[in-house]
Amino acid sequence: MKAIAAIAREPHADFTIETIDIETPRAGEVLVRIVGVGLCHTDLIARDQFIPIPLPAVLGHEGAGIVEAVGAGVTKVRPGDHVVLGFSSCGNCARCDEHLPSYCRDFPRLNYAGVRSDGSTGLSIDGTPVSSAFFGQSSFAEYALAGERNVVRVDADDDLLKILGPLGCGVQTGAGGVMRSLACPAGSTIAIFGGGPVGLSAVMGAVIQGCATIILVEPVTARRDLALSLGATHVVDPGDGDVGAAIRSILPDGVDFAFETSGREAVVETALASLASHGLLGLVGVPPRPDSTLSINLAALITYGHRIHGIIEGDSDLDGFIPELVALHRAGRFPFDRLVRTFPLDQINEAIAAQARGDCVKAVLLPHGEAA
Ligand SMILES: [Zn+2]
Ligand SMILES: [Zn+2]
Repeated sequence: MKAIAAIAREPHADFTIETIDIETPRAGEVLVRIVGVGLCHTDLIARDQFIPIPLPAVLGHEGAGIVEAVGAGVTKVRPGDHVVLGFSSCGNCARCDEHLPSYCRDFPRLNYAGVRSDGSTGLSIDGTPVSSAFFGQSSFAEYALAGERNVVRVDADDDLLKILGPLGCGVQTGAGGVMRSLACPAGSTIAIFGGGPVGLSAVMGAVIQGCATIILVEPVTARRDLALSLGATHVVDPGDGDVGAAIRSILPDGVDFAFETSGREAVVETALASLASHGLLGLVGVPPRPDSTLSINLAALITYGHRIHGIIEGDSDLDGFIPELVALHRAGRFPFDRLVRTFPLDQINEAIAAQARGDCVKAVLLPHGEAA
């Protein structure tokens, strides 16, 4: 079938809107009519070849939509089901067996290679292959081919479904990072570095966990204000000077947990230095370069029992955590919709610019416009 898609053709260049051919789903695959797809920083670093997926490619990895057709052997979903698309995993390695599929042994090959396991791609333009299967979905398009393992059935009406895609990556990374990876107990204290979609989702996760002190460090005033309205107890503007001193003025012993979303080495070091004894630092921010390194004082690390935890996708197991977040949203406890602004898919470049300017926190692209 044919579908309109946003194509990444060159690093650092605009996406182009083109018509692609999509194969009918093979065994184990699911064809999804995409009604909304979030725009994530990872899409841009893939376009720019920090993740070296061959171009041209259909990126997009925060899709949500309606199952259109299923391939042979698929039993988890059927046509008409409302689904959120998450990342891909193998289902039979040690970490998958532990319900930690984001640390799957085959995660890079399954999510970044741009092809199926047999080397084929389900997408083409005028007979020329186009990279697909980005995070098992490539959902910057009217339709996407996903795998049975990475579609999650959700109970959501059409309006909610349109904005649910970010639960499959950025939102679960922030919320799950706090709720699952760090597992902050009630009454604990946390500092969250960065008030983008991941950091603000972490703020909501910290409120759900019952954290007593929730400090957000973020330079943009509107985002600090949003964090306070979502339940942060304190905000720090790094433009005001020494962030570590500002955190110690709130909590002289430091924080039990720190959650770093920017990936910048200096911010990671500040986050580590803000920890209380036996504090735990969670890292989700993509570093500026593949060879970025940290300078850590080992004696201090050991003396204070500081712990550092690299986190992928908030330790989400998809099938358990995404429905849990939808249920929390329905209960009014997880208002992630306040982060979202929608754009038609053909305005993807305008959406990227708006997100870069800080005009919106999380852009969600609508391939079919307002229609479900
Ligand atoms: Zn696996
Ligand atoms: Zn993402």
